[in-house]
Amino acid sequence: TLKGKTALITGSTSGIGLASAHVLAEQGINLVLHGLMSDDEGANLAQEFSEKYQIKTLFDNANLMDTSAISVFMDKATKTMGSIDILINNAGIQHTEAVDTFPESKWNAIIAINLTAAFHTTQHALSGMKANSWGRIVNIASVHGLVASKNKVAYCAAKHGIVGLTKVVALECAEHGITANAICPGWVDTPLINDQITEIANKESTSFEQAKYQLITAKQPVPDMMAPRQIGEFILFLCSDSARSITGSSLPMDGAWTAQ
Ligand code: NAD
Repeated sequence: TLKGKTALITGSTSGIGLASAHVLAEQGINLVLHGLMSDDEGANLAQEFSEKYQIKTLFDNANLMDTSAISVFMDKATKTMGSIDILINNAGIQHTEAVDTFPESKWNAIIAINLTAAFHTTQHALSGMKANSWGRIVNIASVHGLVASKNKVAYCAAKHGIVGLTKVVALECAEHGITANAICPGWVDTPLINDQITEIANKESTSFEQAKYQLITAKQPVPDMMAPRQIGEFILFLCSDSARSITGSSLPMDGAWTAQ
């Protein structure tokens, strides 16, 4: 049983991270919630979770672009919760633009948040997991960790990078009861993709809903967006004992996107 273990989920104030937090909390897993929201909002969110699910919670809003803030955050999380048994590297941002004009600042931010932050959190979490001979690391990559799309140079570089990071961690942890996997989702219904939908709606003078359908079906054969909770359910399975031999894998959950 996973009850009483502690999961740290980066970017759990929104979208996939928040939905996954609910899925894990339903199992009695204690939570370190994290994301860009004020201390007050975060404290309220943490309190809601602990009251609803009767679990221990902690909130932190460390900016993942700041490596020393990550270090302080991870130390605080480990000290307060005892250990980090499950690490979900989920926080991420997007910017779409052709490589010719792609701003350096956006490149740096995407590489820092979507890739480098996971290196730092993993480095901090591993000693505790090794001491317990048990751990689960789940990195939320993307189909863009496996294949590319135009106008996503930094995102594809970061997501391909985290797939590589995941494989190395899996190899190094293979004898320690720790698994590391990357989930590679297609379209998931979250605020992250709103800018891309709005851009299509403006360009084609269509509604937000029509633009959304157009965006999905351009690449993904299954014509629906996934619900964020579906990713959470997949994470929960990867945390289970049944999944102990799944490690070093990059697992598409993509409505047949990468089957083509
Ligand atoms: P979202 O925008 O709903 O949530 C992003 C989270 O990351 C938020 O909690 C936000 O506060 C946090 N975050 C962003 N920048 C941060 C920073 N500098 N420091 C700390 N926290 C920061 O997005 P989402 O769609 O739920 O995305 C979650 C992950 O899933 C991302 O890695 C994304 O690339 C990946 N993903 C999303 C989709 C999709 O279609 N939505 C598809 C594949 C992969």
